[in-house]
Amino acid sequence: MRELLSIEDALGRVLERAHVLEPESVPIAEGAGRVLAEPAVAQVDLPPFASSAMDGFAVRAAETPGALPVVLHVAAGRPASEPLPEGAAAAIATGGAVPEGADAVVPVELTVEHDGRVEIESEARSGQHVRPRGGDVRAGEVVVERGVRLTAPQIGALAAAGVAEFSCARRPRVSVLATGSELRPPGATLEAGEIFDSNRVMIAAVLSASGAVVDLLPVVEDDEEAHRRALERALEADVLVTSGGVSMGQHDLVRRVEAALGVEEVFWGVAVKPGKPLSFGVCGRTLVFGLPGNPVSSLVGSVLFVQPALLALQGLEDPRPRYEHGQTATRLRRNAQRDEFVRARRRSADTATLLEPIAGQESHMIVRAASADALVHVPRGEGELAEGSSVRYLALD
Ligand code: AMP
Ligand code: MG
Repeated sequence: MRELLSIEDALGRVLERAHVLEPESVPIAEGAGRVLAEPAVAQVDLPPFASSAMDGFAVRAAETPGALPVVLHVAAGRPASEPLPEGAAAAIATGGAVPEGADAVVPVELTVEHDGRVEIESEARSGQHVRPRGGDVRAGEVVVERGVRLTAPQIGALAAAGVAEFSCARRPRVSVLATGSELRPPGATLEAGEIFDSNRVMIAAVLSASGAVVDLLPVVEDDEEAHRRALERALEADVLVTSGGVSMGQHDLVRRVEAALGVEEVFWGVAVKPGKPLSFGVCGRTLVFGLPGNPVSSLVGSVLFVQPALLALQGLEDPRPRYEHGQTATRLRRNAQRDEFVRARRRSADTATLLEPIAGQESHMIVRAASADALVHVPRGEGELAEGSSVRYLALD
């Protein structure tokens, strides 16, 4: 194999080629997980009117303490039809529009009401329990910037600010194709030498979580003609992700057949463990990833390279994997040639997140890997990382 690229160089070459897809209009109910192509601005002041933060009585603070006649009743959604007269109070519900003239709300539990009057024992402060108009955002101000992937708080904010739809790059269409004559779908009966195909659905799960529209293609046997037929169709997507068939074996056909179909290879081989023989190329506008077949290699490759590419296609401000920081709970041997991603479980300690490697770190051990919730980055080099070393990790949940 030729010289291996560093993870950073490889990712750089991927992202250079991941151009943002064309925008479409997205209704807010379908907006979670989408990336804004334009800043979204508030359609109204928020709150749109001065409103009460409590159930109670709207008053003029200067007229407290005192006993005031209750002359108005304000429910949420039904503002008072007239200003608050001097020397009077308005019963008001949370979210009700504070009537003109009132500048404070006294919570109901601090009052006694009888015979149409409310007794307020202590002095109210002007502005208390009143939510001023525009206190959250003003009409025309930006609610969420472009390049942000929308999560629950942002969806809520956009709705509150009256934004019903917005512009987002369309979701990338991704073909996922597994190669290997030994593969059978889960649920089938295995014959000698066969295993269940775990990668197709696992890769699809990673990619769907990154906003892709996934097309799961049938498993392809290790036969050149079968590869050609399947890959030809798969290359119509925005992104093609294959699993298996990119190593040195004589049955590893993916790169050769892709080259014959016009895929220009950008790199093959990354200094990462697991996942070294990963390949990447382009065919017209289609990005083409070849993940090695061992399931943990496929998982790591899709998290490190495919996921960022999908986020870049959707215009995310920073699509690179988000590393977090923790400390190793044990010693960790380093690999001299390749950066390693060690499967580990997180544990909260007093001042740091401790990362405990799981038993069973081989790249075929997907069930062992499934008990991990972190991929710990162990930089290549000599010797080992001592227990308690500071490391970066990628959360797996
Ligand atoms: P390959 O990259 O095709 O040489 O495959 C490497 C190893 O991963 C072999 O042991 C394969 O049987 C296994 N493998 C390949 N594809 C899959 C898959 N889709 N699901 C589970 N194991 C796989
Ligand atoms: Mg294979």
